[in-house]
Amino acid sequence: MTRIVEVREQTVRLEAAIRNSLIDFSQMTVSVVAVVTDRRRDGRPVVGLGFNSIGRYAQGGMLRDRFIPRLLDADPGALVDSDSGELEPARVRDLLMKNEKPGGHGERSGAVAALEIAVWDAAAKLAEVPLYRLLADRYNGGEYDRAVEVYAAGGYYYPEDGIGRLIDEMRGYLDSGYTHLKMKIGGAGLDADVERLEAVLGLVDGDGGRLAVDANGRFDLETAIAYGERLEPYGLRWYEEPGDPLDFALQAELGRHYAPPFATAENLFSHEDVRNLLRYAGLRPDVDILQMDPGLSYGIVELDRMLSVMREQDWSPRRLIPHGGHLMALHMAAGLQLGGNESYPGIFQPFGGFGRQHEVVDGAIAIADQPGIGLELKPELEPVLSELVPEAFG
Ligand code: MG
Repeated sequence: MTRIVEVREQTVRLEAAIRNSLIDFSQMTVSVVAVVTDRRRDGRPVVGLGFNSIGRYAQGGMLRDRFIPRLLDADPGALVDSDSGELEPARVRDLLMKNEKPGGHGERSGAVAALEIAVWDAAAKLAEVPLYRLLADRYNGGEYDRAVEVYAAGGYYYPEDGIGRLIDEMRGYLDSGYTHLKMKIGGAGLDADVERLEAVLGLVDGDGGRLAVDANGRFDLETAIAYGERLEPYGLRWYEEPGDPLDFALQAELGRHYAPPFATAENLFSHEDVRNLLRYAGLRPDVDILQMDPGLSYGIVELDRMLSVMREQDWSPRRLIPHGGHLMALHMAAGLQLGGNESYPGIFQPFGGFGRQHEVVDGAIAIADQPGIGLELKPELEPVLSELVPEAFG
């Protein structure tokens, strides 16, 4: 029987001198988690690694005070499949949520996600398969995608030479293999944002279907409608989080004023929240895009529940393109045949991006075949991870 012998966590600061309409990312942090097992491969302990996505904050307090002790205090038999004796992430998830009330998902969903995904990484390494294959077998009838479509998210506001740097940034993404882009709006006035938008559209042959915009939940209804009226003629790929992510009535009303696709849900952290979004926000299963990020929302067991909620309401898993731009979600997109994955090329280091083994070609990434997720193969992350669990390296 596999046992978890130790769990380590560390808070790491993001390297990001950028901001969107609301948030300064240079203050943000991430919790990295290492789940050390008693099993060995090639003379080293098998260690599962995970983190709680990008663009939020670390949850070291909750991990240290609540979730890691809950995991380590458990009967080891409660964490494994009773037939195989192998780690069973779904049982780990149940244990982590013991004594947690329904609702109020807040930030505990990120703490649980980091731990749960680390357990999945360990389980995949022990099975000697890439995580996406394990997920395909477990949840998707063995079907998976070898290549995942990714889009380059960026288009931030720069303190100096805003449009010049914006163009340089976006052109860089196209030069490195991306075909679809996303930029921030709402951090300047409407006229200034339209000027920025038109500058970027010039880089994609004026094709609005290759460009999405993200307002980060900033607008009230009146502003969201005013932006919608100006944006509609461009036929953009999507208009993301126009209003507060939990104001479903605002979203439903906005849908009466703007016909092209919306995208939302990176700030919904549970399948119950997703069910309400699909019930009440007026979103259309054949038009709109969902963006739940498993790294923020309890991990992979919860992702499977979200996909069930989507199917019940006639949404294909292909309508889900997770937020975050991290390698963990790339595996989930491949193994569960989602609609693609976000990407933050070169920023949010050391967590953003997918590592050297994953090249972007014609807007897609062919996923590599190492056991587990492969976070330790990402050069920017290697120094962080090898300090956290030196015995798994070298
Ligand atoms: Mg967003």
